[in-house]
Amino acid sequence: MQSPSVLKHTLISTQNPPLHRENLPEATYVTKPYLPDKDKFLQYVAGIFDSRILTNNGPLVQELERRLKGYLGVSHVILVSNGTIALQILYKALNLSGSVITTPFSFVATSSSLKWEGLSPKYADIDPQTWNISPDQVEKLMDKDVTALVPVHVFGNPCYVDKLDALAENFKIPVIYDAAHAFSVNYKNQSLLNYGTASAVSFHSTKLFHTIEGGAIITRCDELAKKIRSMINFGYDSGKTDGLGINAKMNEFQAAMGLCLLDDIDIILHLRKSRWEFYNKHLQQDIGTQHRIAASTNNYAYFPVLFEREEDLKKALVSLRELHIFPRRYFYPSLDMIYDHGGPSCQVSRDISNRVLCLPIFPEISPKTQDIVCEVIKSKQ
Ligand SMILES: *Cc1c(COP(=O)(O)O)cnc(C)c1O
Repeated sequence: MQSPSVLKHTLISTQNPPLHRENLPEATYVTKPYLPDKDKFLQYVAGIFDSRILTNNGPLVQELERRLKGYLGVSHVILVSNGTIALQILYKALNLSGSVITTPFSFVATSSSLKWEGLSPKYADIDPQTWNISPDQVEKLMDKDVTALVPVHVFGNPCYVDKLDALAENFKIPVIYDAAHAFSVNYKNQSLLNYGTASAVSFHSTKLFHTIEGGAIITRCDELAKKIRSMINFGYDSGKTDGLGINAKMNEFQAAMGLCLLDDIDIILHLRKSRWEFYNKHLQQDIGTQHRIAASTNNYAYFPVLFEREEDLKKALVSLRELHIFPRRYFYPSLDMIYDHGGPSCQVSRDISNRVLCLPIFPEISPKTQDIVCEVIKSKQ
């Protein structure tokens, strides 16, 4: 058995062969999972050992749902095992079929979850400023085969929710927001998660708030919430199997992590804000970035930089890599390059995808590392 430090080294060196391994500082990635106080987490674990309730809607899952409902200001929070299954459950619960209009500028799971459920993604191009799905393009693609909209609040920037919700209502189809980036974002003084028919959130370790792996479904509809509670537990409803279900339950260890992180959420947001403002102060004169829409709050989960040319982005990647800093090309390539959707190609999404880089941002990043990142980015613009 290798020691953890050896394993870590092996991992790093196979992914990104360093030039002079012994002289390099610790690698910096786009994010680093936040961990709470270890003793606090272990106290929860001791409680789980005592109760022997490990899963199946245990007391910690129930407590986390209650607390999240209060923190977010939403009607129903249903915790599930990850953000991708949250989307899949919603597609099933809302009886989607045929095609679904979605955005090509997102993480692959937004589209792959649709295809996995036998649905056809139809891509509406994005707005060149906000990088979210364009309501005008959505309207152009509407036809009788479209059974839902699945927009994404990219980097926590709210979609044009009023327009999209109105459009969907006109066509009598549901809107499912992929809100994986939108934890804690408010729009017009309420949770962004209150818009649409429902929202799917991810609590993966790389996200701002996490439960190791995990996710949640948020909705204001009582009937839909009831159906989903049954669906995530094999279709059981008060002891009998009513409908088709699957296993998408969150377990007690995951919920314990979530409870610890929720205690620290104000600190997490405060630290992210100061890291975000550091980049903004040092870079805003030199870089392009996403235009955030008015009347919304920022959760500082990402710091995307838009280069003028893809060649400059690639040069920055090479320079940063030599310094053992690994930003991510979120989201590359545009999903309409991966999945053929039979519609027009999405030129705006392809162009933005080619030129966007997300800088490392997380509570523990040091000003020194941020300084180095800023210098490299500025020198490549
Ligand atoms: C992270 C993410 C997901 C998937 O969430 P998991 O919890 O990792 O399954 C889906 N959509 C977007 C936009 C994401 O960033």
